[in-house]
Amino acid sequence: MRLRHIPGAEEAIAASPYVVQEPEREKGQWSARFGNKNPIEIEVGMGKGRFIMEQAQRHPERNYIGIERYSSVLLRGLEKREQLELPNIWFLCIDAKQLADIFAPGEVSRIYLNFSDPWPKDRHAKRRLTSPEFMEVYSRILAPEGCVEFKTDNQGLFAYSLESIPAAGWKLKDVTWDLHHSPMAEGNVMTEYEMKFSALGNPICKLTAVRDV
Ligand code: SAM
Repeated sequence: MRLRHIPGAEEAIAASPYVVQEPEREKGQWSARFGNKNPIEIEVGMGKGRFIMEQAQRHPERNYIGIERYSSVLLRGLEKREQLELPNIWFLCIDAKQLADIFAPGEVSRIYLNFSDPWPKDRHAKRRLTSPEFMEVYSRILAPEGCVEFKTDNQGLFAYSLESIPAAGWKLKDVTWDLHHSPMAEGNVMTEYEMKFSALGNPICKLTAVRDV
């Protein structure tokens, strides 16, 4: 998501009651922060957060953590957060590379990757959030029966992910190249990008993956 830097964004994030400021200190203790033992689901690269806040509203029996590395983008999400009563969500302003410093093994039950940046050049492949390098990071924090859910309209990134995810030792569970016309659409929550690209007529691709043990 390309957003111009908003002056004061870092300061606003640092002062926000909705953002966990030193998330490394919560490692292994996230249930205590939520005050319950409900499963914890995270979205990596949440953008303005439409998806994860809607999920949190629909599923009060689950806990959510929205992750976004750019403060100016996260700030837009926090503006929306202020208008909602949501006891089951926190936000982190971090790079996904740090996830294993923030969550203990098995602490996360589901990871959502929605419309992740495609990084089309081969030399940037390691930056893709479905690269084997990132899948290895997810492996370190996900519960044994946990899963990754990935949506995109970028067919090149999707084709890449159909190879990179199994290559990293994961099993593809469900796959569709046209989510909105498939049984996988049941219960689907649209992201900001999903609304924009499906309105243009782009089919939305989705896969779910579990560890191949
Ligand atoms: N998920 C939202 C949606 O579907 O509307 C936003 C999609 S936007 C294309 C991708 C977002 O992921 C951007 O806001 C970007 O800053 C964030 N992002 C990309 N790489 C990231 C990383 N390594 N760690 C955290 N956030 C990341």
